[in-house]
Amino acid sequence: MTTPTATETPQQAALRLGCGTSQVGRCATCQSFCQRYGPGGSPLCPACKSGRPGV
Ligand SMILES: [Zn+2]
Repeated sequence: MTTPTATETPQQAALRLGCGTSQVGRCATCQSFCQRYGPGGSPLCPACKSGRPGV
């Protein structure tokens, strides 16, 4: 699985996450894009929420 989040744009992240670009933000822990805002948003990406940060 190749997901170079460093080169992912907010637009690509929004498509991947299935939310609007205005809801996309950086994960507080690993700085990758995640849905930070709006319904279902979280300051942590799913990986960090599950205790498996970043790579
Ligand atoms: Zn994260």
